[in-house]
Amino acid sequence: MPLGFQATSPARPSVGIVGAGVCGLGIGWRLAGAGCRVDVFDRAEPGRGASWAAAGMLAARAEAEPGEETLLALNLASQEMWPGFAAELAAAGGVSVDYRDEGTLIVALDRDDAEALRFTYDYQRRQGLDVHWLSGAEARKREPFLSPNVGAGVYSPGDHQVDNRKLVEALLQAFRAAGGRLHTGVEVAAIDIEGGRARGLVLAGAEAGVRRYDVVVLAAGAWSRGIAGLPDALRPPVRPLKGQMLSLQMDPEDPLLRHVLWAPGVYLVPRLDGRMIVGATVEEKGFDPSLTAGGVLDLLRSTWEALPGVTELPIVEMWVGHRPTSRDDAPILGPTLVDGLVMATGHHRNGILLTPVTADAVSHYILHGKVMPVIEPFSIARFAKKPGRARPAADGAKLGVVT
Ligand SMILES: Cc1cc2nc3c(=O)[nH]c(=O)nc-3n(C[C@H](O)[C@H](O)[C@H](O)COP(=O)(O)OP(=O)(O)OC[C@H]3O[C@@H](n4cnc5c(N)ncnc54)[C@H](O)[C@@H]3O)c2cc1C
Repeated sequence: MPLGFQATSPARPSVGIVGAGVCGLGIGWRLAGAGCRVDVFDRAEPGRGASWAAAGMLAARAEAEPGEETLLALNLASQEMWPGFAAELAAAGGVSVDYRDEGTLIVALDRDDAEALRFTYDYQRRQGLDVHWLSGAEARKREPFLSPNVGAGVYSPGDHQVDNRKLVEALLQAFRAAGGRLHTGVEVAAIDIEGGRARGLVLAGAEAGVRRYDVVVLAAGAWSRGIAGLPDALRPPVRPLKGQMLSLQMDPEDPLLRHVLWAPGVYLVPRLDGRMIVGATVEEKGFDPSLTAGGVLDLLRSTWEALPGVTELPIVEMWVGHRPTSRDDAPILGPTLVDGLVMATGHHRNGILLTPVTADAVSHYILHGKVMPVIEPFSIARFAKKPGRARPAADGAKLGVVT
């Protein structure tokens, strides 16, 4: 029997979900579609947390690094699901997520970069990933406006992208169309746990009171650790990891860039409407919301070094987001020792990529009481078994690229 789920649970339990990011909405959509009564609560505008701030890269291969093999399997599983998931969402809610499959280019600007890139590339090949080494000239054939200093590159045809803000909109529409109820501007003050069982949610503000549910899902992103009512052992070890980003406007008819591009210190994600997303810093600064001159300067300088033509592009927007980063950079998914309490948090830099597998595997558990093998390694129980086991954050390790 999987942790914390009773065989007596109803086939269509009532479910209260904390957080209307891509995780909460994805799970809510699947459960509402299966006939459950589902309430999703967000204290702010839905989907305006990390899900809004992200770049939308689906980069399981390009981001694969030594030591992350278990996570790689999950990332690849979700990546495989994406085309079908995007089509299903569009059919359900009428909103396209602008799935783009040109692939991802990673480029090196000097010899040091090229050595580091070769190391990661060799590792990725050993993992059986479909990545291809390019000369500088071959990289420029794919992206003609790359700097003449680009001396080598890797092409990953299977790493794609979606517009994450459209994903939020698509999930909202699909969730509502399936009969799910969204409560905006409603803070969940606590999870009500009694006798080793989650009984519901304690709400603050206009809807203040206790709501009873058969199952409660914690999907509050970087804020998940702070929700009251959780026993210490089940307080997810998730912290906010700040990222500054900005976007530039290209001519959509004649864009400067067509692939997702990773260069030293920056990644660039071209959207169908001509925006180029430029990201991102990685900062251990808690929930600090400030854009800084240094952060933006670093991003723009790195962009210009790889793609000199950007100097003429207008800046559209600048923003800050907070990745929900767990102690080992991997998500926390599935049941807990408290019956009826299910986790979907800690997705770090991969929450958009992992939206399909999170929605399907977590809802599958709630409906059928079975943990799918693909999420088994990602239970919160792993932290209880190995206290203090921490790996250095992988962000930025490769070529100074930050996600
Ligand atoms: C700069 C940046 C770039 C990124 N780029 C990528 C990328 O390219 N590809 C990728 O796959 N991932 C990327 N990510 C990661 C991805 O955005 C996250 O992993 C994902 O969005 C997490 O989704 P979520 O639903 O868990 O959290 P969120 O989207 O943060 O949603 C959590 C929600 O919970 C709500 N909430 C919190 N506390 C409460 C409460 N007490 N009561 C009610 N509501 C509450 C919040 O208001 C929020 O709306 C990036 C993240 C950042 C910050």
